[in-house]
This record gives sequence, structure tokens and C-alpha cells, in this order.
Amino acid sequence: MKEIIKNVFHVGDSGCSVYLVNTNSEDGLVLIDSGMSIEMIKKISTYGLNPTNIKHCIITHFHIDHTAACFDLKSLNKQVKFYAHDLDANAIEEKGHDNKTAASWYGIDYNPVKLERKLRGNLETLRFGNYDFQCIHTPGHTPGSISILVEVEGTKVLFGQDIHGPFYKSFGSNLNDYQNSMQKLLDVKPDILCEGHFGIIKPASEIERFIKMHMSLNRP
Ligand SMILES: [Zn+2]
Ligand SMILES: [Zn+2]
Repeated sequence: MKEIIKNVFHVGDSGCSVYLVNTNSEDGLVLIDSGMSIEMIKKISTYGLNPTNIKHCIITHFHIDHTAACFDLKSLNKQVKFYAHDLDANAIEEKGHDNKTAASWYGIDYNPVKLERKLRGNLETLRFGNYDFQCIHTPGHTPGSISILVEVEGTKVLFGQDIHGPFYKSFGSNLNDYQNSMQKLLDVKPDILCEGHFGIIKPASEIERFIKMHMSLNRP
């Protein structure tokens, strides 16, 4: 666990990188994806944060490496609420989408969770405490992939998760959509990129280089 910027943490890596925002309010802690290990999430207690104070979890897309621990988190903490884009919702809320979610590839069972709210359209903002979590629809890797932008004391933090890909038919990937989505993220001009498998990327020039490199590697 590492504090990236005030109240924003990299919890660790289990399947994917898991990030957390402490809203210091009755909205408690907000998790960005759960990763695969509840044990890793529980370790936030060694940094004075209470895992049962995780009140919200925004899921960036339906892949199992980002969602497997959601069910365990719900078991630990009944009050946690989950959010994801409508276009990825089925595979999060139901069993039987093991190729889409890559559960078959990992050889594990996915236990579904119910979403509190399905995000729709190009942009929806969730407000927790004094923070706006702008959920930007960035399809490409999966149809309902989202990237989450949070401004912390003037610094734009982007939780981009799997913006590097990969892209497969079984995921419903679309490289035309991907190019448009990445252009949206370039236009945002984030200061810090928290990526799903490449860790924390900064400053802005390095983020631009990272996104443009992946755009050129993944032309339709
Ligand atoms: Zn993925
Ligand atoms: Zn991933």
C-alpha cells in the first residue's frame, strides 16, 4: 500500500492494481476495482484504514482480474455498493459469461455481485464525500469499460485500468471505439494515470506518450 497523492492509495496488485480513495466523509473509502484477493484489501488496516469502511466500489470493466474479490468484499462488508457501466453489467451480475470475463482463462469460478447503479452514456459522475468521480465511458478493451477521473486539490488523477488492452473478440473488443476512447483521455490531460497493470504513470507528458504508444500499437 502506498499513498499516491493525498487520500489516494495504491492498495496493491492482485490480478490487477487496486486503488482506493479515502473521502474522509460518511461515504468512507471508495475502491477502484477489487482485484482478486480480499486478503490484500484487508491489509489496508495496517495503514489505519478499516476494510469495513469501504462503502463503494467502482468496477472499471467485467474482467475477473478486476472483479473476483467483489463477492468476498460484499461478504465482509454488507453495506458496500458496486457501480459499473451498463454495457458490462450482465457479466458482473450473472454467472455464465466465463469467456467474456476471462474466468475460463484463469480457471476459476466467478461469483456475481449486484450493481447498485448501472452507469449509462458517455459520462456519469458519482459524488462521494467532496470528491467527484467522473466515470468516462471508454469502450475498446470491453464494450462497457470506464475510466474514472478524480480531481484532488487541482491534480487530475485518472484511473485508466486496462487502457493498454489487450483486445479480443471474446471480450467484445473494438479497436475503432478504442481509438476514440483514448482520444477522450488525451483531451482530459491527466496529471497522474493509475493503470490496471502498468502501475502509476506521471507526469502528463509520460501519460500522453503511454496512451499514444498503445493507440499506435492497436490501430484498427
Ligand atoms: Zn481487462
Ligand atoms: Zn486487467
